[in-house]
Amino acid sequence: MAIRSLDNLLAEEEIRGKRVFVRADLNVPISQGRIGDVTRIKASLPTLRRLLAAGARVVLSSHLGRPKGKRVPALSLRPVATELERELGRPVAFADDCVGERAESAAAALGDGQILLLENLRYHEEETKNDPDFARSLARLADVYVNDAFGTAHRAHASTAGIVSHVKITAAGDLLRTELASLDMLFSPERPFLCFLGGAKVSDKLGILEALIDRADVIGIGGAMAYTFLKARGESTGDSLVEPDRIEDAQRIMQAAEKKGCRLLLPSDHVVARKAEAGAETRIVSEIPDGWIGLDIGPESARAYAAETESARTILWNGPMGMFEIEAFAGGTSALAQAIAASSATSVVGGGDSLAAVNQLGVGDRIDHLSTGGGASLEYVQGLRLPGVAALEI
Ligand code: AMP
Repeated sequence: MAIRSLDNLLAEEEIRGKRVFVRADLNVPISQGRIGDVTRIKASLPTLRRLLAAGARVVLSSHLGRPKGKRVPALSLRPVATELERELGRPVAFADDCVGERAESAAAALGDGQILLLENLRYHEEETKNDPDFARSLARLADVYVNDAFGTAHRAHASTAGIVSHVKITAAGDLLRTELASLDMLFSPERPFLCFLGGAKVSDKLGILEALIDRADVIGIGGAMAYTFLKARGESTGDSLVEPDRIEDAQRIMQAAEKKGCRLLLPSDHVVARKAEAGAETRIVSEIPDGWIGLDIGPESARAYAAETESARTILWNGPMGMFEIEAFAGGTSALAQAIAASSATSVVGGGDSLAAVNQLGVGDRIDHLSTGGGASLEYVQGLRLPGVAALEI
C-alpha cells in the first residue's frame, strides 16, 4: 500500500488556496508559558515551510500534554504560536479552540500562504477517543490532510486516524517520512547490530525486547528495568525498583536470547544510594546491599557498554541507563550518549530522556537519526502497524 509523500502531493495537486490541515507533534515541555525544548517545533518546520511556499492555507494542530478533555490553561498551545512566528518569520494566527465556530471562522479568514494554529486537541476528550463526530468537525477545517506527527502515529485518535475518512486528499509530511525511512533500516541492519534499552519498566519494553532478540546481536540493558532481570538471575537487588510480576518474563527473554544467539548484557556494577535524591550518599557496588537502591549503571558497566559501540555497525538506543535527572545518577546515560556519538555505526536514538541526554551533551549532530517519537519508534521497530501511518495508505 502506498502513502503519498509531500513531494507527490505538491506535484500532483494544486495546493494554492486550499486549506491544508496539518497534524503535527508540537508537544513540547512548557513551564510558566516558557518552552523548555524546541526540538519538536523545529522538526515540524520543513513541512510547514513547503506548504506555505506553495500557497497553502495551513491549519496546524497538535496535542500538548494530557489535559484529559479539560481546558487546562497551562497546556495551551499559545506559546507555541509565538515560537512558530519567530521560526517562520511570519504571523501565526491562533484559534482558542480546535473545532467549532471559532476554529472555522479563523480557518475561513486565512489567505494563501498563511498559517493558523489551533488550540490543544486534547482539550476535547473526543480526540483520544477517536470520536467520529469530533473527527468530522476537524475535517470541516480541511480540504487536504497532512500528517507529520510521528510522535503520535501509534495512537488511533480523531486527528491521526478518524479525520482521514472525511478528507479525500491525504499525505505524509516530511518528518513522518524521514522517521519511517530511518527506522526501516533497522529491519535489515548492518551487523553487528547493538541495542541499548533502559528506562523505568520492563513491562513497557517487553514487546520491543522480544522483537529485538530476533534481530540484534547484542542488547545492553540499563535503568530500573535491569533490576528485574538481575532479580530473575537470582542476584541481590536491595530496594531497587523491581517488577515482581515481570520476573518470569525476564527469565523467558534471557532464555530466548541465549537460544537465538543474542547476547543480553546486564550491568555488573551499580551506583547505589539509600534515597533516590540529589545529595544522598552514593556508593559503587557489584552487589546491591539491603536498604540501598540501584540508581545508575556503574562505571565498569558503562565502560563495557561503551566498548560494544566500537565494533557495532548499527546502534539503537531508547531509555536512560539510570535516574539521569539527578546528576549523581546521570553518569551511565552520559557515558552511553558519548560512546554512541563517537561510534562510526549508524545510530538511531529515540525516547525523550535519551534525546535530552544527547542534546544536553551537545552531541546530537553526531547521531544519525534522533527520533522525535519514543513510543511510536519502539512500536514501529517491533513491526507493529501504526494507526496514524495506516490511515494514510491509499
Ligand atoms: P521510561 O519512561 O520507561 O523511559 O523511564 C524513564 C525514567 O526511568 C526516568 O525518569 C528515569 O529517572 C527512570 N529511571 C531510570 N533508571 C532508574 C532507576 N535505576 N531507578 C529508578 N528510576 C529509574
